[in-house]
Amino acid sequence: MNFNLTKDQLAIQTEARKYAVGKILPRINEMEFKRDLVEEMGELGFFGCAFPEEFGGTDLGFLAHSLVCEQISRVDSGLRSLFNLQAMTVPYTILEWGSPETRKKYIEALVLGKHIGCTCFSEPGAGSDIAGIQTQIEDKGDHFLLNGQKTWISNGTVADTAIVYATLDQDLSHRGLCAVVVETDQPGWEARETPKLGDKSSPIAEIFLKDVVVPKENLLGELGNGFQVAMTALDRGRISVGSGAVGLAQACLDASVAYANERTQFGKPIAAFQMVKSNIAEMISMIESARLLLRRAAWMNDQDLPFTREIAIAKYVAGEAAVMAAGKAMEIHGGMGYSLEMPVERYFRDSKLYQVGEGTANIMKLIIADDALNIKRANRKRLHVPSQFRSLVA
Ligand SMILES: Cc1cc2nc3c(=O)[nH]c(=O)nc-3n(C[C@H](O)[C@H](O)[C@H](O)COP(=O)(O)OP(=O)(O)OC[C@H]3O[C@@H](n4cnc5c(N)ncnc54)[C@H](O)[C@@H]3O)c2cc1C
Repeated sequence: MNFNLTKDQLAIQTEARKYAVGKILPRINEMEFKRDLVEEMGELGFFGCAFPEEFGGTDLGFLAHSLVCEQISRVDSGLRSLFNLQAMTVPYTILEWGSPETRKKYIEALVLGKHIGCTCFSEPGAGSDIAGIQTQIEDKGDHFLLNGQKTWISNGTVADTAIVYATLDQDLSHRGLCAVVVETDQPGWEARETPKLGDKSSPIAEIFLKDVVVPKENLLGELGNGFQVAMTALDRGRISVGSGAVGLAQACLDASVAYANERTQFGKPIAAFQMVKSNIAEMISMIESARLLLRRAAWMNDQDLPFTREIAIAKYVAGEAAVMAAGKAMEIHGGMGYSLEMPVERYFRDSKLYQVGEGTANIMKLIIADDALNIKRANRKRLHVPSQFRSLVA
């Protein structure tokens, strides 16, 4: 691995930082979804790094995607959540598993920010255990019908295009799962917003599906392939989520360094006290470890190497780094950490998600340990489309 970023990677990283500070930061107190920013980021190519030009992308790769996610999250972790849905778990999953017609119909609008995407795995009875999904998919001959309920769906209230995971028959467990692309603008789709702790610019919904119609050609992969589709989608989603965790942790560090140099106690800046220095050093060490792990995993994806193990390690460490850095930032800020005048209370609220979303910290540790113990190999060969996918694109 070459540790130097390319000219193009540096350029998109700089552009993302400039955009985040110039356009997102001034609106940080609008605690709601901002569709205009989604469109702008789509036009700037922020969602399209891993996609070829014919689908509205720039073909810069997954490492470039990671760099953009980090910079957006450094300013607004909630807006970073979008990158999962406008790039990784919705359009990239369609690119990987969809028919040429489905790719043509849905990918570009998502990547350019014209349509909003959402991914529906979670249900009241199925979170970490995706094989426990109960939403039913029925084959009606010329179309499919979906019935069931989903929870915790990011962008659920605003999405135009969803990927829904459903089962043919619960007794088949993971072998019964199917993944389909759903257009949300139909009578059987109902979304109700869920109030939550952080990530205020990213709406979350409970979704009720009643006789939702899905055209046959919107099946991703084959009937009963949904578990495999989910695993590839989650691997890529973890690049976006892990990079977001690093960005948030960096924001905690930036705020802490500034405050430690400015705040005076006992006649000195608090930066002079060894216990404050210790916190800063621990934050930097965790952040840089997480960043390098993320870049390794994204780079492996760019090289078309299996990377399930590496992204599980990276996402786990990045989640821990985000929560640790947010806690230490609160400590360094003393009472001001608790104030709504400073951003650290927001970082603290947003950070916890990184130990939950896209697979909990425990699930990441299971992947890592099962691989080491020869219980379940993490890096198995799977059907997927790398950056060199041109031959697969009709
Ligand atoms: C802000 C936010 C956004 C989200 N966005 C989406 C979205 O867009 N789409 C979507 O489908 N879902 C989404 N989710 C849901 C998220 O993916 C789940 O919350 C997550 O997978 C965990 O599932 P759960 O909440 O049901 O917890 P559970 O699976 O019930 O886990 C509870 C606890 O038990 C532990 N646990 C479970 N199984 C094991 C095991 N085998 N070994 C050890 N420990 C275990 C977990 O680690 C956790 O600590 C979102 C969640 C949040 C909070």
